[in-house]
Amino acid sequence: METILVLTHAALSDEFSTESGLTLSKASLEAVTAGLELAARLSAKLTIGIVAADAATAASSLASTGATLLAVSGEAFAQARYGSDVVAVEALCRAAKATIVLAPGTSRFTRIAASVAHRLDGFIDTHITALGGTETVEATRWFYRQRVEAVIRRDVRPWFLLLDAGTHAAFAGESKTVQIEQVAVTLPALRTTVSGFRAPALDAQTIRPDAKMLFVAGAGWTKKQPDGQIHVGKAGELILGFLRATGASLGSSKSLVDQGGEGEPVLPFLTHMNQIGQTGSTPRHAKGLSTCCHGEEPHVVGWRFIGDRRAISLDPNCGWTRGKADVVYIADAFPVMAKVNALLEAKKT
Ligand SMILES: Cc1cc2nc3c(=O)[nH]c(=O)nc-3n(C[C@H](O)[C@H](O)[C@H](O)COP(=O)(O)OP(=O)(O)OC[C@H]3O[C@@H](n4cnc5c(N)ncnc54)[C@H](O)[C@@H]3O)c2cc1C
Repeated sequence: METILVLTHAALSDEFSTESGLTLSKASLEAVTAGLELAARLSAKLTIGIVAADAATAASSLASTGATLLAVSGEAFAQARYGSDVVAVEALCRAAKATIVLAPGTSRFTRIAASVAHRLDGFIDTHITALGGTETVEATRWFYRQRVEAVIRRDVRPWFLLLDAGTHAAFAGESKTVQIEQVAVTLPALRTTVSGFRAPALDAQTIRPDAKMLFVAGAGWTKKQPDGQIHVGKAGELILGFLRATGASLGSSKSLVDQGGEGEPVLPFLTHMNQIGQTGSTPRHAKGLSTCCHGEEPHVVGWRFIGDRRAISLDPNCGWTRGKADVVYIADAFPVMAKVNALLEAKKT
């Protein structure tokens, strides 16, 4: 019989949370959903472990799960730090006597999970997107740039599974005061002092994994337009205006982000981190809008997890029109996006 532990942590201030440090991070709440589903299927005992400065407020949101709640709390756990987090999570795993440990694949837990698995003589798998199985646990993940999907079973226990964000619904239940069992830890000598966060301004932060929509800019934005001129400044204004109005995440084609190195006109807010595709990222968003991008296979392979796909391209024979998008607008993206931004602005006022 498995004993399941779901690890959670409070939202950190770099996630732009207004209730920073008090509520659980969204990825943690997704892991709670995964744990509840798995425990129900395996008829297994479920424990939820919390790492936070103040675990009481975070725990109240988990009251309706019916799970045993363990916490490691105190000022030392207000911020992510390897030395303090690794002992906290190890203590939670030992207290729960967990055989299966589910954790959100956040930077905080990704940094320490393999170490804890090693300390407990266990095994870890990362980037898990789904959990199945009724008799035993079956974990699904993608390999080779999301081309091959594998289902993994292991006999080694404890088995740590780091879940990719956006693969489960975030748990939401009625908040009420709930009993928590505090787990004591002895902190090692801490060599790292967290003095604060330095993050880009909110409107400079263009990669937003939690956004409902992905907006992709292709190389066409910086190419000669029908009037024989390039309009990079205007392109930048239109793209940033759309991002500001919608909160969409900004993706790019490889050709566009490569241009800087090739001495061609560039959009200064784009880096290789924005690149979507075979050699870029494969984000998860409910909707996607591609603009001035040809929709070639090495790019579109990164759209695997985008729900509703739309594209604006001048080329009626582009890859999007060949079955890769749900809706394609054969149009000039400059006037189209100017009109869309004006409509969004009017809606706001
Ligand atoms: C091994 C390998 C790996 C690769 N990995 C990736 C990857 O990870 N990601 C990726 O993106 N690419 C990748 N590529 C490159 C990929 O094959 C394409 O070359 C690239 O995606 C093309 O980018 P693009 O569509 O933005 O540019 P282009 O091919 O130049 O297309 C620009 C498009 O914009 C349109 N356009 C121009 N002006 C306008 C306008 N005003 N309004 C509307 N449309 C307009 C044009 O009609 C054209 O269709 C890879 C290639 C290889 C060989």
